[in-house]
Amino acid sequence: MALTDQKKTAQLDSGILVVNQSKPTKVNCWSCGAMRAAHFCQECGKVQPPTPVDYFTFFGLPFRLNLEPEKLEGEFYALSRHLHPDINAINSDREQQWSLEKSSQLNDAYRTLKDPITRTEYLLRLQGVQLEEQSKAATEEARRTGKLKKQVVPPDLLEQVFELNMQLEEMRMNKKMGEPDRTLERELQDSKKQLQDRYNGLVEELHAAWNEWDALIDRAEQGGSVLEDDRIAVRDKMVDVLNRRSYLRNLLRDIDEVLES
Ligand SMILES: [Zn+2]
Repeated sequence: MALTDQKKTAQLDSGILVVNQSKPTKVNCWSCGAMRAAHFCQECGKVQPPTPVDYFTFFGLPFRLNLEPEKLEGEFYALSRHLHPDINAINSDREQQWSLEKSSQLNDAYRTLKDPITRTEYLLRLQGVQLEEQSKAATEEARRTGKLKKQVVPPDLLEQVFELNMQLEEMRMNKKMGEPDRTLERELQDSKKQLQDRYNGLVEELHAAWNEWDALIDRAEQGGSVLEDDRIAVRDKMVDVLNRRSYLRNLLRDIDEVLES
């Protein structure tokens, strides 16, 4: 294999499939010295000091996007019980502190991974992707300062968005003048319905990208090589779906605001 080819391929272990991958280090229990599991010692059951790991690793999961919600939930409750302050009240201050820190790590990890969208966003963040800031706060900030939101209109929506913005503007004017236009209102309702359908349809697109991503992870875990280009292609597919999703969400919010004002 040529050197350039070697450079372009990546094993999971090299941390290229997920940048900043944090693997749990194999260390011994601080108390009894036995080899320990991530959170508790298998021998003496003592809680182990928290380590800065990513949320997938915290749960001992590979970086796959398809995961079984029931299994994650079961693991969450099992760990919650173990880390509960009441259970650890008899332990030393240090152990109580660790339990508290791990509890909060656990809650963050669970909240992030259980939701399909935040799970995807998190994985993309691990890969160094900064998703566009399209939160409500950003929208309001943009309105307040008069700056345009940094949003790229998805090409397949350009025409529809152009027309929609004109309708929204007209509707705002009408409302301000106290002259409701029922026809325009119905048109906006129709547009809303169409956009809502598109928005709902994005879930399927996202799942298709998940499957591609997981196939790369599986290949890497089985010792196969993964082309850097393949990783980037799937990553960008997910970014694209999420960007279109938040764009549509904002659009739907704008329509609602005008209809309900
Ligand atoms: Zn131990």
